[in-house]
Amino acid sequence: MMHKLTEVKRVSNDLPYISEMGDFNSLPRPFRPSDLQSFFHYWFMYHPKYVENRQVIFNSFNNTPHTTQLVYFHDKAFALVQLIETTIKGVSIDVRVFEIGCVHQWQRTSVGTKTKLYCPICGTTDWYDSSD
Ligand SMILES: [Zn+2]
Repeated sequence: MMHKLTEVKRVSNDLPYISEMGDFNSLPRPFRPSDLQSFFHYWFMYHPKYVENRQVIFNSFNNTPHTTQLVYFHDKAFALVQLIETTIKGVSIDVRVFEIGCVHQWQRTSVGTKTKLYCPICGTTDWYDSSD
């Protein structure tokens, strides 16, 4: 059964690193397996731009909807997928993490003390001040 928890809004101008937003039961694309350490590295360094809930169905995880939190940062997103298993011993909860978005090939250009990052694959740009 499909569950629509939130409206999926197209924010592609704001999130150029995503090529397809996907629907209520799938992940945005492209995506690849990641881990909690990578997610928390971003979580503690940057502020998320958007968060979203979906019920994602994975062929590899028993084909049922899994509660999934999508956390969109400025140049990538993460999906935190809750896996609940109920056995006679009790309930166990596990989390799988996916990294979502372009695998950027950053090109750097320096202008004074500022450095511009540009990915020619998806068009994502970012700036940082190298005098810090
Ligand atoms: Zn890119």
